[in-house]
Amino acid sequence: MALQQAVETAVPDRRRPERGFDGAALRADFPILAEPARNGQRLVYLDSAASSQKPRSVIDALSDAYEHHYANVHRGIYQLSEDATERFEEARRRVARFIGAPSEREVVFVRNATEAINLVAFAWGRANVRAGDLIVSTEMEHHANLVPWQQLAAETGATLEYVHLTDDGRLDRDDLARLLARGPKLLAFAHVSNALGTINPVVEITRQAHAAGALVLLDAAQSVPHMPVSVGELGVDFAVLSGHKMLGPSGIGALWGRRELLDAMPPFMTGGNMIRRVTLEGTEWNEVPWKFEAGTPAIAEAMALTAAIDYLEALGMDRVRAHERSLFEAGWAALSSLEGVQLLGPADPDLHAGVISFVIDGIHPHDVATVLDSEGIAVRAGHHCAQPVMLRYDIPATTRASFYVYNAPDDVDRLTDAIRAAQRLFAG
Ligand code: PLP
Repeated sequence: MALQQAVETAVPDRRRPERGFDGAALRADFPILAEPARNGQRLVYLDSAASSQKPRSVIDALSDAYEHHYANVHRGIYQLSEDATERFEEARRRVARFIGAPSEREVVFVRNATEAINLVAFAWGRANVRAGDLIVSTEMEHHANLVPWQQLAAETGATLEYVHLTDDGRLDRDDLARLLARGPKLLAFAHVSNALGTINPVVEITRQAHAAGALVLLDAAQSVPHMPVSVGELGVDFAVLSGHKMLGPSGIGALWGRRELLDAMPPFMTGGNMIRRVTLEGTEWNEVPWKFEAGTPAIAEAMALTAAIDYLEALGMDRVRAHERSLFEAGWAALSSLEGVQLLGPADPDLHAGVISFVIDGIHPHDVATVLDSEGIAVRAGHHCAQPVMLRYDIPATTRASFYVYNAPDDVDRLTDAIRAAQRLFAG
């Protein structure tokens, strides 16, 4: 497997994670990356922040689940169902370990990060937030971490305020301090911004929020796939992630929450699986996490998520971060040397994940993406589900290149050349 080769040959010294690994060597594990792009060239996939590609091992795990291990879970008194249940619950243990959760009972399977945030806004929010309470989010959030709080505020009469952004795409810490001084019930913010690439200082901010009496929900959709994340060490109260952004299948994600908070929350959805006992008069809820998993869950997807975690753990999350950091540095240097290209977010690689959002003078981001597509390069253009970020910087959209394990410096070269080509095309 290319993974083994990349880890063993490109990074012979496992004690030096800062060296990363050879992303180009890993491509052989990702069947879709062997499909030629529309111009016949090698496809350069730079849209992993939207959704990552899947290695052969994950694709195989999905079909293996259906071929050999599939039955409904938690119900059958037969061997196949017990096997499926064990594999499903093993996936939960693996997610818990991967994100440093103290217990797998604190990991709730959902469809994606969006559903996880909605679960908290609905179940925790409606039980705990009252008229006049304050909820704080930020101007940098994906709509998934913004709209559910707007809805909660509208329904409860609570107030929702936002931490604003600095010119270089960081959270304004004075603004944060000012809002925390008002004693909010909850601070909901992203570990890594999908639109800007900014990495937020979670430990410091969480300490401040707790000192002010607020709970913290961390949107870790863009951090868990790309860097070591330990919810225990970060000290947050809730964290959310999506499987499809971390080499896993779509249709499965997770909410992690502190046990005492989950225990105290009413269910989100009701029906089968989430109950202990039902009579015509009423219902007793199941224990956590199953209390929040109404209906048949994403069974095969959970098994394939285990394969995705296997893959990332074999690489090592320190090395994944080191790898993306070096691609960021190369990309930032190359793009900022081009005339007429403005880059968003902090320049400091310690504060910036493998996401480069940019605008080019005189060319709409959609046109940039179209030209790049004709050059065999897949990037995202638009508001990236973060319209307030676009409003903050007074731009309609950006073009976004996002890196992952299968990218390498040759992708940065192709991107840079294609941007030059777009500039030439629109200049003429
Ligand atoms: N939060 C962030 C920071 C994201 O980047 C995304 C997706 O791009 C989401 C939440 C929502 O993820 P999903 O669409 O998987 O629910």
